[in-house]
Amino acid sequence: MTSSERRLVFSEAVHDRAVGYRGDAESLHQLWTHPQTRVLMVSRGRVLVDPVTAEPLWRPATGAPPGEQYLLGVDEAGHARFAVSLTADATADATAEPSKGLRELAATVGASESGWLCHAVALANWHATHTHCPRCGSPTEVSAAGAERRCPEDDSTHFPRVDPAVIVLVTDAQSRALLGRQEVWPDGRFSTLAGFVEPGETAEQAVRREVAEESGVVVDEVRLMATQPWPFPSSLMIGASAVAAGSQDPRPDGVELSEVRWFAREELAQSVASGAVAVPGRVSISRWLIDGWFGGDLPDDGAGWR
Ligand SMILES: [Zn+2]
Repeated sequence: MTSSERRLVFSEAVHDRAVGYRGDAESLHQLWTHPQTRVLMVSRGRVLVDPVTAEPLWRPATGAPPGEQYLLGVDEAGHARFAVSLTADATADATAEPSKGLRELAATVGASESGWLCHAVALANWHATHTHCPRCGSPTEVSAAGAERRCPEDDSTHFPRVDPAVIVLVTDAQSRALLGRQEVWPDGRFSTLAGFVEPGETAEQAVRREVAEESGVVVDEVRLMATQPWPFPSSLMIGASAVAAGSQDPRPDGVELSEVRWFAREELAQSVASGAVAVPGRVSISRWLIDGWFGGDLPDDGAGWR
Protein backbone atom coordinates (compact mmCIF):
# COMPACT_ATOMS: atom_id res chain seq x y z
CA MET A 1 0.00 0.00 0.00
CA THR A 2 1.41 3.40 -0.91
CA SER A 3 0.42 6.60 0.82
CA SER A 4 -1.57 7.69 -2.24
CA GLU A 5 -3.85 4.65 -1.85
CA ARG A 6 -4.63 5.36 1.76
CA ARG A 7 -7.95 7.13 2.16
CA LEU A 8 -8.38 9.94 4.61
CA VAL A 9 -12.14 10.20 4.97
CA PHE A 10 -13.64 13.73 5.26
CA SER A 11 -10.38 15.23 3.94
CA GLU A 12 -10.35 13.98 0.35
CA ALA A 13 -12.93 16.13 -1.39
CA VAL A 14 -13.45 19.86 -1.46
CA HIS A 15 -16.83 21.29 -2.36
CA ASP A 16 -17.75 24.80 -3.45
CA ARG A 17 -19.17 26.38 -0.30
CA ALA A 18 -20.78 29.15 -2.37
CA VAL A 19 -19.72 31.77 0.15
CA GLY A 20 -21.02 34.58 -2.07
CA TYR A 21 -24.63 33.53 -1.46
CA ARG A 22 -24.46 33.65 2.31
CA GLY A 23 -25.43 37.30 2.72
CA ASP A 24 -27.86 37.45 -0.19
CA ALA A 25 -31.37 36.62 1.02
CA GLU A 26 -33.01 36.84 -2.41
CA SER A 27 -30.52 34.52 -4.10
CA LEU A 28 -30.73 32.12 -1.16
CA HIS A 29 -34.49 31.97 -1.53
CA GLN A 30 -34.09 31.24 -5.25
CA LEU A 31 -31.61 28.48 -4.49
CA TRP A 32 -33.89 26.98 -1.84
CA THR A 33 -36.91 26.90 -4.15
CA HIS A 34 -35.04 25.62 -7.21
CA PRO A 35 -36.34 22.16 -8.23
CA GLN A 36 -32.82 20.71 -8.48
CA THR A 37 -31.79 21.82 -4.99
CA ARG A 38 -31.24 18.97 -2.56
CA VAL A 39 -31.50 18.93 1.21
CA LEU A 40 -29.88 16.61 3.75
CA MET A 41 -31.69 16.14 7.04
CA VAL A 42 -29.73 15.98 10.29
CA SER A 43 -31.34 14.91 13.54
CA ARG A 44 -29.36 14.84 16.80
CA GLY A 45 -26.07 14.45 14.93
CA ARG A 46 -27.42 11.65 12.73
CA VAL A 47 -28.22 11.74 9.03
CA LEU A 48 -31.60 10.53 7.76
CA VAL A 49 -31.13 7.71 5.25
CA ASP A 50 -33.26 6.08 2.59
CA PRO A 51 -35.22 3.19 4.16
CA VAL A 52 -34.39 0.89 1.22
CA THR A 53 -30.83 1.73 0.18
CA ALA A 54 -29.65 3.05 3.58
CA GLU A 55 -27.87 5.81 1.63
CA PRO A 56 -28.06 9.42 2.87
CA LEU A 57 -31.38 10.93 1.89
CA TRP A 58 -31.14 14.09 -0.28
CA ARG A 59 -34.67 15.41 -0.68
CA PRO A 60 -36.01 18.28 -2.79
CA ALA A 61 -36.24 21.37 -0.60
CA THR A 62 -40.04 21.48 -0.98
CA GLY A 63 -40.33 18.18 0.91
CA ALA A 64 -37.94 19.13 3.68
CA PRO A 65 -39.24 18.98 7.26
CA PRO A 66 -39.10 22.08 9.48
CA GLY A 67 -35.79 23.07 10.99
CA GLU A 68 -32.86 25.44 10.69
CA GLN A 69 -31.54 25.68 7.15
CA TYR A 70 -27.84 25.84 6.35
CA LEU A 71 -26.39 26.36 2.89
CA LEU A 72 -23.64 23.78 2.33
CA GLY A 73 -22.70 24.89 -1.18
CA VAL A 74 -23.11 24.11 -4.84
CA ASP A 75 -22.31 20.69 -6.29
CA GLU A 76 -20.46 19.83 -9.51
CA ALA A 77 -23.69 20.00 -11.52
CA GLY A 78 -24.27 23.55 -10.25
CA HIS A 79 -27.12 22.59 -7.90
CA ALA A 80 -27.39 23.93 -4.39
CA ARG A 81 -27.15 21.68 -1.37
CA PHE A 82 -28.56 22.54 2.03
CA ALA A 83 -28.74 20.84 5.38
CA VAL A 84 -31.79 21.05 7.62
CA SER A 85 -31.29 20.51 11.32
CA LEU A 86 -34.67 19.15 12.37
CA THR A 87 -36.65 20.95 15.05
CA ALA A 88 -37.52 19.01 18.21
CA ASP A 89 -41.01 18.31 16.82
CA ALA A 90 -39.65 17.18 13.47
CA THR A 91 -37.05 15.07 15.29
CA ALA A 92 -39.86 13.35 17.19
CA ASP A 93 -41.66 12.73 13.90
CA ALA A 94 -38.45 11.49 12.32
CA THR A 95 -37.69 8.91 14.99
CA ALA A 96 -39.59 6.43 12.84
CA GLU A 97 -37.29 7.24 9.91
CA PRO A 98 -33.99 5.42 9.63
CA SER A 99 -30.86 7.41 10.35
CA LYS A 100 -27.16 6.70 10.54
CA GLY A 101 -24.24 8.17 12.41
CA LEU A 102 -21.42 9.81 10.52
CA ARG A 103 -18.76 7.28 11.51
CA GLU A 104 -20.87 4.48 10.10
CA LEU A 105 -21.65 6.36 6.87
CA ALA A 106 -18.05 7.46 6.39
CA ALA A 107 -16.93 3.88 5.95
CA THR A 108 -19.23 3.34 2.97
CA VAL A 109 -19.85 6.60 1.09
CA GLY A 110 -17.55 8.13 -1.52
CA ALA A 111 -15.12 11.00 -0.99
CA SER A 112 -17.40 13.77 -2.26
CA GLU A 113 -20.40 12.55 -0.28
CA SER A 114 -18.36 12.24 2.91
CA GLY A 115 -17.39 15.91 2.57
CA TRP A 116 -21.02 17.07 2.37
CA LEU A 117 -22.07 14.87 5.28
CA CYS A 118 -19.18 16.05 7.43
CA HIS A 119 -19.94 19.72 6.72
CA ALA A 120 -23.65 19.25 7.47
CA VAL A 121 -23.19 17.34 10.73
CA ALA A 122 -20.42 19.65 12.00
CA LEU A 123 -22.59 22.71 11.39
CA ALA A 124 -25.67 21.12 12.95
CA ASN A 125 -23.65 20.07 16.03
CA TRP A 126 -22.46 23.63 16.57
CA HIS A 127 -25.82 25.31 16.04
CA ALA A 128 -27.54 22.85 18.37
CA THR A 129 -25.20 23.68 21.24
CA HIS A 130 -24.77 27.43 20.69
CA THR A 131 -28.32 28.69 20.83
CA HIS A 132 -27.65 31.62 23.19
CA CYS A 133 -25.39 34.64 23.13
CA PRO A 134 -22.26 34.20 25.31
CA ARG A 135 -22.26 37.98 25.96
CA CYS A 136 -25.85 38.67 27.07
CA GLY A 137 -27.59 35.29 27.21
CA SER A 138 -30.26 36.12 24.62
CA PRO A 139 -31.35 33.50 22.11
CA THR A 140 -29.34 33.86 18.90
CA GLU A 141 -30.49 33.45 15.30
CA VAL A 142 -29.02 31.70 12.30
CA SER A 143 -27.37 34.16 9.93
CA ALA A 144 -25.18 34.04 6.83
CA ALA A 145 -27.10 30.96 5.65
CA GLY A 146 -25.89 28.98 8.65
CA ALA A 147 -22.25 30.07 8.61
CA GLU A 148 -22.85 32.28 11.69
CA ARG A 149 -25.27 33.02 14.50
CA ARG A 150 -26.23 36.54 15.44
CA CYS A 151 -27.55 38.04 18.66
CA PRO A 152 -30.52 40.35 17.98
CA GLU A 153 -30.01 42.12 21.32
CA ASP A 154 -26.42 43.29 21.07
CA ASP A 155 -25.79 42.58 17.38
CA SER A 156 -22.78 40.34 18.14
CA THR A 157 -21.82 37.67 15.62
CA HIS A 158 -20.73 34.16 16.59
CA PHE A 159 -18.80 31.78 14.38
CA PRO A 160 -18.80 27.98 14.38
CA ARG A 161 -16.24 26.57 16.75
CA VAL A 162 -13.51 24.21 15.57
CA ASP A 163 -11.24 22.61 18.17
CA PRO A 164 -7.77 21.73 16.89
CA ALA A 165 -6.31 18.53 18.27
CA VAL A 166 -3.00 16.85 17.50
CA ILE A 167 -2.72 13.12 16.90
CA VAL A 168 0.74 11.70 16.56
CA LEU A 169 2.55 8.56 15.47
CA VAL A 170 5.81 8.53 17.44
CA THR A 171 8.61 6.25 16.30
CA ASP A 172 11.96 5.39 17.86
CA ALA A 173 15.40 4.60 16.45
CA GLN A 174 14.29 1.00 15.75
CA SER A 175 11.27 2.28 13.82
CA ARG A 176 8.86 1.02 16.45
CA ALA A 177 5.58 2.88 16.98
CA LEU A 178 4.35 4.26 20.29
CA LEU A 179 0.73 3.34 21.02
CA GLY A 180 -1.30 3.79 24.17
CA ARG A 181 -4.55 2.74 25.72
CA GLN A 182 -6.94 4.42 28.10
CA GLU A 183 -8.10 2.68 31.24
CA VAL A 184 -11.76 2.84 30.17
CA TRP A 185 -11.12 1.13 26.84
CA PRO A 186 -11.62 -2.62 26.47
CA ASP A 187 -8.47 -4.73 26.85
CA GLY A 188 -6.19 -4.75 23.85
CA ARG A 189 -7.46 -1.53 22.34
CA PHE A 190 -4.55 0.73 21.36
CA SER A 191 -4.23 4.00 19.47
CA THR A 192 -1.85 6.82 18.67
CA LEU A 193 -1.36 9.56 21.26
CA ALA A 194 -3.56 12.64 20.96
CA GLY A 195 -4.62 15.82 22.69
CA PHE A 196 -6.07 19.27 22.20
CA VAL A 197 -3.98 22.26 21.19
CA GLU A 198 -4.01 24.84 23.98
CA PRO A 199 -4.38 28.61 23.56
CA GLY A 200 -1.14 30.26 22.50
CA GLU A 201 0.43 26.98 21.43
CA THR A 202 1.54 25.72 18.02
CA ALA A 203 0.50 22.28 16.80
CA GLU A 204 4.14 21.16 16.97
CA GLN A 205 4.43 22.35 20.58
CA ALA A 206 1.19 20.55 21.42
CA VAL A 207 2.64 17.31 19.99
CA ARG A 208 5.76 17.58 22.17
CA ARG A 209 3.76 18.45 25.28
CA GLU A 210 1.08 15.76 24.85
CA VAL A 211 3.60 12.98 24.12
CA ALA A 212 5.70 13.99 27.14
CA GLU A 213 2.64 14.28 29.42
CA GLU A 214 1.04 11.01 28.40
CA SER A 215 4.11 8.80 27.97
CA GLY A 216 7.13 10.62 29.35
CA VAL A 217 8.78 10.31 25.93
CA VAL A 218 10.67 13.35 24.63
CA VAL A 219 10.47 13.80 20.87
CA ASP A 220 13.05 15.52 18.67
CA GLU A 221 11.55 15.91 15.28
CA VAL A 222 7.87 16.74 14.68
CA ARG A 223 6.36 16.75 11.22
CA LEU A 224 2.77 17.68 10.36
CA MET A 225 1.34 15.12 7.91
CA ALA A 226 -2.34 15.80 7.17
CA THR A 227 -5.45 17.21 8.79
CA GLN A 228 -8.92 15.75 9.09
CA PRO A 229 -12.17 17.41 10.16
CA TRP A 230 -13.62 15.21 12.90
CA PRO A 231 -17.06 16.51 13.87
CA PHE A 232 -17.53 14.47 17.06
CA PRO A 233 -18.50 17.11 17.90
CA SER A 234 -16.15 19.78 16.51
CA SER A 235 -12.50 18.77 16.19
CA LEU A 236 -9.92 19.32 13.53
CA MET A 237 -7.42 16.49 13.86
CA ILE A 238 -3.88 17.53 12.99
CA GLY A 239 -1.98 14.35 12.13
CA ALA A 240 1.74 14.37 12.86
CA SER A 241 4.73 12.11 13.01
CA ALA A 242 7.46 12.51 15.60
CA VAL A 243 10.74 10.81 16.41
CA ALA A 244 11.74 9.99 19.97
CA ALA A 245 15.14 11.20 21.05
CA GLY A 246 17.52 8.31 21.79
CA SER A 247 16.21 5.19 23.53
CA GLN A 248 13.36 5.85 25.94
CA ASP A 249 11.06 3.62 27.97
CA PRO A 250 7.56 5.07 27.89
CA ARG A 251 5.57 5.23 31.12
CA PRO A 252 1.85 5.95 31.20
CA ASP A 253 0.72 9.06 33.07
CA GLY A 254 -2.00 7.00 34.75
CA VAL A 255 -4.50 9.76 33.97
CA GLU A 256 -5.07 9.83 30.23
CA LEU A 257 -3.27 6.57 29.50
CA SER A 258 -3.09 3.40 31.59
CA GLU A 259 -0.70 1.65 29.24
CA VAL A 260 1.74 2.89 26.61
CA ARG A 261 4.36 0.88 24.75
CA TRP A 262 6.47 0.46 21.66
CA PHE A 263 5.30 -1.91 18.92
CA ALA A 264 7.53 -3.32 16.18
CA ARG A 265 5.74 -3.81 12.84
CA GLU A 266 5.75 -7.63 12.93
CA GLU A 267 4.68 -7.65 16.57
CA LEU A 268 1.72 -5.36 15.88
CA ALA A 269 0.67 -7.41 12.83
CA GLN A 270 0.74 -10.64 14.85
CA SER A 271 -1.13 -9.08 17.76
CA VAL A 272 -3.83 -7.68 15.48
CA ALA A 273 -4.13 -11.02 13.62
CA SER A 274 -4.54 -12.95 16.88
CA GLY A 275 -7.06 -10.43 18.22
CA ALA A 276 -4.85 -9.55 21.18
CA VAL A 277 -4.65 -5.95 19.95
CA ALA A 278 -7.25 -3.82 18.16
CA VAL A 279 -6.35 -0.59 16.37
CA PRO A 280 -8.70 2.21 15.24
CA GLY A 281 -10.79 1.81 12.10
CA ARG A 282 -9.77 3.13 8.69
CA VAL A 283 -12.16 6.07 8.99
CA SER A 284 -9.80 7.72 11.49
CA ILE A 285 -6.58 9.63 10.91
CA SER A 286 -5.06 7.55 13.70
CA ARG A 287 -5.37 4.45 11.51
CA TRP A 288 -4.12 6.46 8.51
CA LEU A 289 -0.97 7.28 10.46
CA ILE A 290 -0.54 3.69 11.69
CA ASP A 291 -1.04 2.28 8.16
CA GLY A 292 1.49 4.77 6.80
CA TRP A 293 4.08 3.65 9.33
CA PHE A 294 3.22 -0.04 8.86
CA GLY A 295 3.46 0.22 5.08
CA GLY A 296 0.60 -2.14 4.29
CA ASP A 297 -2.68 -3.61 5.44
CA LEU A 298 -2.83 -4.72 9.03
CA PRO A 299 -4.58 -8.11 9.22
CA ASP A 300 -8.02 -6.95 10.36
CA ASP A 301 -11.20 -5.98 8.50
CA GLY A 302 -10.38 -2.27 8.67
CA ALA A 303 -13.39 -1.50 10.84
CA GLY A 304 -11.21 -1.32 13.93
CA TRP A 305 -12.65 -0.75 17.35
CA ARG A 306 -15.67 1.47 17.55
ZN1 LIG B 1 -26.18 39.10 22.95
